[in-house]
Amino acid sequence: MQSGAVLRVENLSAWYAESKALHGMNFDVREGELLTLIGRNGAGKTTTLRSIMGIVRKRTGSIKFKGDELIGRRVYEVARKGVGYCPEERAIFSSLSVRENLTLPPVLQKGGMSDEELFKTFPNLLRRAGSQGTKLSGGEQQMLAIARILRNGSRFLLLDEPSEGLAPVVVKEIAEIILRLKTQGFTIILVEQNLRFARRVADRHVIVEHGKVVDILNAAELEADMDRVQTYLGV
Ligand code: ATP
Repeated sequence: MQSGAVLRVENLSAWYAESKALHGMNFDVREGELLTLIGRNGAGKTTTLRSIMGIVRKRTGSIKFKGDELIGRRVYEVARKGVGYCPEERAIFSSLSVRENLTLPPVLQKGGMSDEELFKTFPNLLRRAGSQGTKLSGGEQQMLAIARILRNGSRFLLLDEPSEGLAPVVVKEIAEIILRLKTQGFTIILVEQNLRFARRVADRHVIVEHGKVVDILNAAELEADMDRVQTYLGV
C-alpha cells in the first residue's frame, strides 16, 4: 500500500447480474488526495464508485477503507464509516426545500458540517434555503447534493460527474468548492469526463478502460502526455 493510503482497491471485479463490468481494478487513494477516474462512456467509472459504496453488491477482490474490508458491507455501513456518495443524478428530494433536503438522511455521525458552515461554503444555497428542489438550477442542485453528504460527517467523498450539464461559469464555481474541500482535508474521488475540470482540481488521474485501470498519472504527467490521454478518452 502507498504510505498514507486511505482506500486501497485491489483486483476489484463487479457484475450487474451476469454481466461483468469491472475486470480487476487496482488503485490507491491517499489521505487528503483528490483523485479523478477518467475514461470513455461505459468504461466503468460509475460502477467503481457504486462498488466502493456497496450499491453494486456482486463484487470480488478487495476494497479496504482505513484497513477495513468494504466488500460484503451494506451501503449504510459504508456511509457510517465516513464515505459519502454523490451520484450523477444528484438524488435530491425535488418536492422538498433546500433546508428540508439538508435534514435527510438524518446525520450519520459526528463531525458533520453545521447548517451555518454549509451555508458559508455554499452561499447560493442560503439564498435559496426555502426554495423547492425543482426550482433550483443544475448548479444549485449539485451544490445541495454535495452539501448533504458534508452534513453527514463524511470525510471521504465520491463525486460522480459534478460538472455534467452545467454552464462553464457554474463548473468553475463547483471546481472552487471542490478545491476548498480539498484544502479542508477531505479526500475525494471524482468521476469526470470534463478534462479541463479534472486538470483544474486533481492530484492524480486514474485512467479507466473496459473495467480496468490502464494508467495512473499525476498532474504533471497528465500535462506532459495529453495526446495519450486524449486517445484514451477518444477525443
Ligand atoms: P458513463 O460515463 O457513461 O456513466 P462509466 O465509465 O461510468 O460511463 P459505467 O456506468 O460504470 O461506466 O458502466 C460500465 C459498464 O457497465 C457499461 O458496459 C454499462 O453498460 C454497464 N452498466 C452500467 N450500469 C448498468 C446496470 N444498471 N445494469 C447493467 N449494466 C450496467
